[in-house]
Amino acid sequence: MFTSARLKLTAWYLLISMLISVLFSIAIFYILSLQLDTEYLRLYHRYEIRRELLPDQGRSPLIDLQSLDASKDNILTSLVYINLFILVISASAGYFLAGRTLRPIKEMLDEQKRFISDASHELRTPLTALRTTLEVNLRDKNLNLKQAKSVFKDNLEEVEGLQALCDSLLVIAKAQNKGNLRFQNVSLKAVVDEAVGKLSVLAKQKDIEINQDIENVSFQADTEKMIRLVIILLDNAVKYSSLSTKVHITGKQLDHKIQIKVKDQGLGILEKDLPFIFNRFYRVDKSRSRIEGYGLGLSIAQKIVQLHQGSIEVSSKPGKGTIFTILLPVSKPRRIF
Ligand code: ADP
Repeated sequence: MFTSARLKLTAWYLLISMLISVLFSIAIFYILSLQLDTEYLRLYHRYEIRRELLPDQGRSPLIDLQSLDASKDNILTSLVYINLFILVISASAGYFLAGRTLRPIKEMLDEQKRFISDASHELRTPLTALRTTLEVNLRDKNLNLKQAKSVFKDNLEEVEGLQALCDSLLVIAKAQNKGNLRFQNVSLKAVVDEAVGKLSVLAKQKDIEINQDIENVSFQADTEKMIRLVIILLDNAVKYSSLSTKVHITGKQLDHKIQIKVKDQGLGILEKDLPFIFNRFYRVDKSRSRIEGYGLGLSIAQKIVQLHQGSIEVSSKPGKGTIFTILLPVSKPRRIF
């Protein structure tokens, strides 16, 4: 599909450039022919006048109708060669330009295809489990009300999980759209306060203390997305930490960047897993815990950071803890990719 679209676009580029080139060539040919004819007539008149004055001078060496036609033919041939040359150059340049024009569209389509296949794969597993449980229990003639209620309860949990997954997928789908960003002056402290507030219940349940050390600085960003970013990192820090540990979040301005660090004393991540944790649906060793999640949080966080043209890095020591470091530009980036 990409090749045929590229060829079609090349054909359009070629058609436009050749149309312009041929029209110019016709115009040039007519202008030059007109000039030659005018010059010929001027010389002919001069010769006629001279012949009337000096009838014995014979044929003028200056005027030759055949060489006039030959000159016109030469111009025409040169123009044809020039046009052939332009045809070859335009075809190659057009093919190259069409490739460059279509590349971002191709990347976007590939990304969408990957997203749809990942999403349907992730949705299919819990849906199949849900269907199997329902079918098995429906066929069970001895199922009493108490057992049925327990099945309903399990199914409801499964449905809630699916709902959370759909919400995350929706967030990712929206995050792909750069036009959704609403840049405004954001207070770093307000963002962190809001995120910490949202996680306080979860942290309390595990007796985890969230310490803040945030400078009173502002920067240009999308407020909603910044809050979501900090929530994702704090949520992971709490989720992957043992009871009664500490999570530390710091925020400061370094030159033209805002630095946010989230540090925990949790499980840590093995070095072999570090390159993949930002991939969609990647979960480190699914069996290591019953910690809920779909492996989407960090991919959303990375997307948010990328949209703001910042960077996100991770360093971790298994069994000791993990540090996520984010750098974001203080001012709104000129070009949003
Ligand atoms: P989820 O938490 O839903 O599984 P994420 O994309 O947020 O998905 O994280 C991907 C994986 O990275 C997680 O499964 C987890 O194993 C690992 N991870 C992320 N944050 C931390 C952290 N602070 N400490 C330890 N492991 C983490």
